Amino acid sequence: MRNIRKAVHAGYCWGVERAIDMVIQTTETHKEVPVRTLGPIIHNPQVVQSLAEKGASTIDSLDEMPAGGTVIIRTHGVAPETYQQAESKKLTVVDATCPLVTLVQNRAKQLVNEGYHLVIFGNAKHPEVIGTIGHAGGHATVVEKPEDARTVKLANKKVGVVVQTTQETERLSEFLSYLAPRCKELKVFNTICNPTIERQDAARDLAREVQVMIVVGGKNSSNTRHLATVCKQEGAITYHIEEPMEVEPGWLVGAQEIGVTAGASTPGWLMDHVIARIHELEQQQPLTASL
Ligand code: SF4
Repeated sequence: MRNIRKAVHAGYCWGVERAIDMVIQTTETHKEVPVRTLGPIIHNPQVVQSLAEKGASTIDSLDEMPAGGTVIIRTHGVAPETYQQAESKKLTVVDATCPLVTLVQNRAKQLVNEGYHLVIFGNAKHPEVIGTIGHAGGHATVVEKPEDARTVKLANKKVGVVVQTTQETERLSEFLSYLAPRCKELKVFNTICNPTIERQDAARDLAREVQVMIVVGGKNSSNTRHLATVCKQEGAITYHIEEPMEVEPGWLVGAQEIGVTAGASTPGWLMDHVIARIHELEQQQPLTASL
């Protein structure tokens, strides 16, 4: 009989729960007007679909917003220009930006005001980073890979750093080890959020004790992808999936201990369905062979 273990911290973080509650509440209190979320509220198609059925479908740009409607800003936040655009279109804004993302935006602004060359360690295309650049007035350089800190162009030797909330702590340490020798003054706000750290630590602990790790969450979810990386680094055979049916019978062969974790935008029920799928496959394929 295989042992299927769930990471101690996995699935929805409080920032995502708060945002989903805000969407549901808005659909109930703004029934008379169109309600839309600016971008999918989380990286989970089923949840996005169920919110659309409640009355909050997704738009990609404010240009698609019906007049007089209510627009919901998702956890990743947006640049100040987006609020201005919403105001000029006379839209009502419900702001579900995670307070920990607001903190990154404020720290970025502070560093620019204090005369630091702002460096954001994160993914340049991620909406959170794009929003943060906007709050810094566009005065920011984004570094995506730790080793790029060796060569990134620095306008002066007084450098300030903020970090995308869902980055990996070990990558941040590596990035800073390359950056620090190039600066006369370096001010760092480690803005990786606590739920991300807890999920990474729990995934790391579990990955050390199992042969196979299954990481559940959107393929475009930054924090889920980083969880998968952390598990691989610990030597577990790791699979990143979005749906229970993606679990293949062959993944279980010889694995006595299987770990399951999920990104911060993955609902608990989806994780439970993945575990149920593993149990189902296990009945068809008892533990016999070895890895
Ligand atoms: S992952 Fe962190 S920053 Fe993002 S919504 Fe959750 S708590 Fe907020």
